[in-house]
Amino acid sequence: MADCIFCKMVAGEISPDVVYEDDDVLAFRDINGQAPTHILVIPKVHISTLDDLDDTELAGRLLKTVSKLARQEGLADDGYRTVINCNEKGGQDVYHLHLHLLGGRQMIWPPG
Ligand code: 5GP
Ligand code: ZN
Repeated sequence: MADCIFCKMVAGEISPDVVYEDDDVLAFRDINGQAPTHILVIPKVHISTLDDLDDTELAGRLLKTVSKLARQEGLADDGYRTVINCNEKGGQDVYHLHLHLLGGRQMIWPPG
C-alpha cells in the first residue's frame, strides 16, 4: 500500500534491522525500542489493524513467529510480552498490523 512505512520495508524501499523473514512474515527491530529486546512482527500483505485480520492461518504464523523469535532471542524461559495495539484508543500509530515482542526487563501490569 502506498505511503505505508511497513509496506515500504516489505518492498525493500526501506531497510530495517531484519531478524526474520519468510514468504508471509517480516520481523525487524523497533526503531524506538521500549525494552532491551523490542521486535515487530508483521504480515507482508497490508492489513491495517487486528480488526481487519480474517486469515486465521496467517494469524497463527504471526503468533508462532513471535514465540520462535522469543526463544531465539533468549527471552522464552524468563518471559516476555506480546502487544497488539488496535486503533486510536489502543495506541496504534502505524496502521499496518504488527505484533510487538518485548523482553529483557520486568514488565508491569496494568500497561499504560
Ligand atoms: P504502534 O504504536 O503502532 O503499535 O507501534 C508502532 C511501532 O513502530 C513503534 O514502536 C515505533 O517505534 C515503530 N516504528 C515506527 N516507524 C518505524 C521505522 O521506520 N522503523 C522501525 N524499525 N520501527 C518503526
Ligand atoms: Zn502496509
